[in-house]
Amino acid sequence: MQNAVILKPGREKPVRQRHPWVFSGAIAQLPSAVADGEIVPVLDAKGRWLAQGYLNRQSQIQVRLLSWNQAEPIDAAFWRRRLETAHQLRQNTAELAQADCYRLVHGESDYLPGLTVDRYGAHLVLQAGTLGIDQRKQQLAEQLMEITGCAGVVERSDDPNRRKEGLALTSGLLAGAAPPDKLVVSEPSLSGQPLHFQVDLLDGQKTGFYLDQRENRRRTAAHCAGKRVLNAFSYTGAFAVHALAAGATHVVNLDSSVEALELGEINLQLNHFDPDADCTSIAGDVFEVLRDWRDLGAPDLAALKPAESGAGGLFDVIILDPPKFAQSKSHVERALRGYKDINLLAMQLLAPGGALITFSCSGLVDAALFQKVIFGAAIDAERDVQIVDFLHQASDHPVAATFPEGAYLKGLICRVL
Ligand code: SAH
Repeated sequence: MQNAVILKPGREKPVRQRHPWVFSGAIAQLPSAVADGEIVPVLDAKGRWLAQGYLNRQSQIQVRLLSWNQAEPIDAAFWRRRLETAHQLRQNTAELAQADCYRLVHGESDYLPGLTVDRYGAHLVLQAGTLGIDQRKQQLAEQLMEITGCAGVVERSDDPNRRKEGLALTSGLLAGAAPPDKLVVSEPSLSGQPLHFQVDLLDGQKTGFYLDQRENRRRTAAHCAGKRVLNAFSYTGAFAVHALAAGATHVVNLDSSVEALELGEINLQLNHFDPDADCTSIAGDVFEVLRDWRDLGAPDLAALKPAESGAGGLFDVIILDPPKFAQSKSHVERALRGYKDINLLAMQLLAPGGALITFSCSGLVDAALFQKVIFGAAIDAERDVQIVDFLHQASDHPVAATFPEGAYLKGLICRVL
């Protein structure tokens, strides 16, 4: 078979179980007459048809599977059906149908490997993570506009993982109208009032706003009334806005990026909070700043009055929402040390009975492992720690049962005695 990918003997099980990735190590023979990016059938060692997907010899994942149905051509109608299915899921979820920003396509977990699409009002942001999607992005952008009625599609294919596919990083307008520089989207507060956030679709981190934390921001806000809150790794300051809306007495936004802190202040103003009186913005490295506060005290936190309850500690609530520490398997050990460090420091800075709301978005660190890190930090901090809530990515970031890797965000709400 010149035009097929043939697997090594015994390597067909994940394909039969509909895992969408075929790694180079499972492949006995690549096709000679199929160009990278094109659709290719995948056969077992005996030549039996298993599935079909798009090819990329330059990637370790040489085929991303799209269909297990031999009679289903991968044509424009196929892509449209998949996009419509993803759109339907969001339309069928009452909360999302009313929201003006959500993830519309979550890659493998929406049966569209390599494709991520976020919606912000009338604008879409597309990320093409693979060659197969990159080659079809124009068509996909036009189909997305038809399905959603959105005005335009911006491309943000600037995730460095694209290099593993042999692709350069690129961003810009893909189809339709350009978004305004200052697009404002909203998200309901704990009490259901809309809170407003400015998003920069062309230049912001990720696709502009951390949509995966939507539900967790409200769960976090439920612990913030009357509390002194540290929002570490604050970026857009969205957790701070939710905390203040729920009645926090003061919030500290801490981030290494000055631009992020400025965006945090804009978002406070958009919601009628005073960036000076209600919030302290601190530029610095979370590891260093928390260590300094623990060891040297916190003269930079003059605005942070001692708790009325006389509870002690510097904060009553600490939110830790760091970037992905483990980019690959070789980074997991180091990542675990990083998670342990910041969680230990946070526990040491919390008032007795305070809340630690801690996240990991490293897919390679699963929920059980993350919980072990918190356990280790609690032992070292010599504090009793109760987990009161288990958090995960918002429902517009589904996890396909065949693709457990799709579950990447996990969080714990802990009471630290
Ligand atoms: N909680 C945010 C998202 C966090 S994204 C939200 O809801 O919008 C991660 C943020 O961590 C980025 O803004 C990045 O600038 C910041 N960051 C990364 N490493 C850091 C470090 N060591 N110290 C402080 N901030 C850091």
